[in-house]
Amino acid sequence: MADKYEGEFYCVKCKAKRHAVGDIVVSKNGTRMAKGKCPECGTNLNRILGKA
Ligand SMILES: [Zn+2]
Repeated sequence: MADKYEGEFYCVKCKAKRHAVGDIVVSKNGTRMAKGKCPECGTNLNRILGKA
C-alpha cells in the first residue's frame, strides 16, 4: 500500500502553489518524494519530503 501525501505542491506551469494528493515514492538514495498532479492544469508535481 503506497503512502499518500496531501498538501501543498508548487506547480511550475501555474507558477502557484496547489493543494493536491500524491503518492509517496522513495528514490534510490533514500529521499522521499511526493508525486501529484496539478488540479488546475494537470501538470505532474513533485515535492521533496526529505530522507525516509
Ligand atoms: Zn498547474
